Amino acid sequence: MPRPSRRDAIYPVSVHPQSGFRAPRRFICSSFLSTMVDSIYRTRSLGVAAEGLPDQYADGKAARVWHRYIGSVSDRTSVYRMWLSDFLRSKGVKHVLDVACGTGVDSIMLLEEGFRVTSVDASDKMLKFALRTRWGRRREPAFDNWVVEEANWLSLSKADLNSPTEGFDAVICLGNSFAHLQDFDGKQNNQRVAIANFHDVLKPGGLLIIDHRNYDAILDTGKAPARNIYYQGDVITSIQTSCLYVEGKATMVTLDYFLIPEEEDTLEMKQPNSETEAKPDKFRLSYYPHRVKDFTNLLKTSFGEDTSYTILGDFKPLEEIETPAYFIHIIEKST
Ligand code: SAH
Repeated sequence: MPRPSRRDAIYPVSVHPQSGFRAPRRFICSSFLSTMVDSIYRTRSLGVAAEGLPDQYADGKAARVWHRYIGSVSDRTSVYRMWLSDFLRSKGVKHVLDVACGTGVDSIMLLEEGFRVTSVDASDKMLKFALRTRWGRRREPAFDNWVVEEANWLSLSKADLNSPTEGFDAVICLGNSFAHLQDFDGKQNNQRVAIANFHDVLKPGGLLIIDHRNYDAILDTGKAPARNIYYQGDVITSIQTSCLYVEGKATMVTLDYFLIPEEEDTLEMKQPNSETEAKPDKFRLSYYPHRVKDFTNLLKTSFGEDTSYTILGDFKPLEEIETPAYFIHIIEKST
């Protein structure tokens, strides 16, 4: 029997007697058995190696199927387009920073609604699609003025944002993006840095609108709903949910998204200019499972206790919706 290594001492493993497969015992989740075929637990679909803070979209799989996943862009944004643009207008917002623009869905919606938009994302694979749209629509002045940059929330001040002197009127971080920041030290340090950076780029009185899936419900039921306000495409056949607990604390939720093969898909769902290579029929993404109460505390650490703050469920007042798929937090920087 080999002596356990130092790593094994920290994370005990079960070793299969014949294959030698080593399954970390700290993975306690219902669907772990079906993910064991990967031989090690992966937080994202296979692709290029990632250094530092991993870009889960680096292999391009999610980026290539994103528009099949969310359904038609107009379906995706119809649920909250009017609400969000009316709300921003009512607050006098003109210039919005979308800190997780991905392929550009929300940024494009806001440009079409007449807002000035600066968009950033850490993943060049996702940005590529936003930049394509920018190029395609460059004759429209709003798109010609659209700033799209690669940036990480943890070093936002280093990004070439061309920020307005006073700061942005609003920062949006939508589509369950913030939950991609993992909490490897168990102290939410990365999360605090990112929220502080969002706070810093806002003008006094500016608004942060940030969301996450209803992880309270996901942890209670062990399942994430496949269709919800943001993702309305018919191509997701199922989402397999795995929950990782470390020392009894929910630390990571991994979602395996299964899509119907593309040939069975309708033409309408295909993204214009889609790549010629075969589209993957599944992808994996991992999230930190924010509980609403803890997320409120996180926001208030940077924005203060007494600032104006509202939580919506699927863009509706909480009393109007029983189990929302998403919580949307709106918090104002004090003046
Ligand atoms: N808001 C878009 C994209 C959602 S996907 C939509 O709803 O369609 C989540 C996005 O967050 C990805 O494009 C990913 O690259 C980005 N992201 C994750 N961590 C990030 C970080 N630390 N800094 C900047 N962007 C990040």
